[in-house]
Amino acid sequence: MAFIWVDELWGSIYEKYPPGLIEFGCMVFTQVVGFWIPGTIYLGIDLLFPNFSNRHKIQSERRQPSRAQIVHCIKHVGLNEIVGLSIQLALRTAFGFQYSVFRVERQLPGLWTVVSDIVYGSLAGEFVFYYIHRAFHHPLVYTKVHKQHHQFTAPISFAGQYAHPVEHIFANLVPVIVPLALRGANLVSATIFVLYEIWQAAADHSGYDFVKLPPTKFHDLHHEKFRVYFGTIGLMDWLHGTDKVGWDKPKKAKVDDE
Ligand SMILES: [Zn+2]
Ligand SMILES: [Zn+2]
Repeated sequence: MAFIWVDELWGSIYEKYPPGLIEFGCMVFTQVVGFWIPGTIYLGIDLLFPNFSNRHKIQSERRQPSRAQIVHCIKHVGLNEIVGLSIQLALRTAFGFQYSVFRVERQLPGLWTVVSDIVYGSLAGEFVFYYIHRAFHHPLVYTKVHKQHHQFTAPISFAGQYAHPVEHIFANLVPVIVPLALRGANLVSATIFVLYEIWQAAADHSGYDFVKLPPTKFHDLHHEKFRVYFGTIGLMDWLHGTDKVGWDKPKKAKVDDE
């Protein structure tokens, strides 16, 4: 029954609006539902339930950001959101909203299409994000761009998009959108994937130990220790051995006690 309702709603949107506008609406939807609403809930827990918050934060109370830092973060993230959405809107306006980088079809995608798009998006996104993120840690780029994101050594969920605008485009938007666009993924499955990825950014920066796959502690540790866990799902870090603190330090010579 619920499925018929969703199908009818999608049908009326498909018939009324051009593909580019539907795609833009879906991306705004993912930001509001995947980032701003969860970010507000996580922040609400921080501020309204401090005892519960302290019990469940991965890092200690004394490391948490001040209110002034939180307000500054939200303002900056709002600005990044405007920049990101304005670029997307400008690109679509240039094509008269008739073009979408995703496949926009009247029929809702089947389960296999959704699952294969999501699995592909997760693996390709992990690959692209890992190398872009590692490049941002190169000394030539780190201070100019990525240092801003690392100001939150104990992150809050809004810090998921607290970044230099260059980083916001290349590390937050490109790894999520470009692989799926190159595949010509279905817009509905792309929307589900982007929604998940954006929620993941909010959850990974929430600082909470709540159950999540992959665990929040991976990216939380990246903020605490910097040169560990550059990826999102742990796969590329496992392959490169960057999933352990101190991987880049010279190994101590073994003491020969014979
Ligand atoms: Zn981060
Ligand atoms: Zn980093």
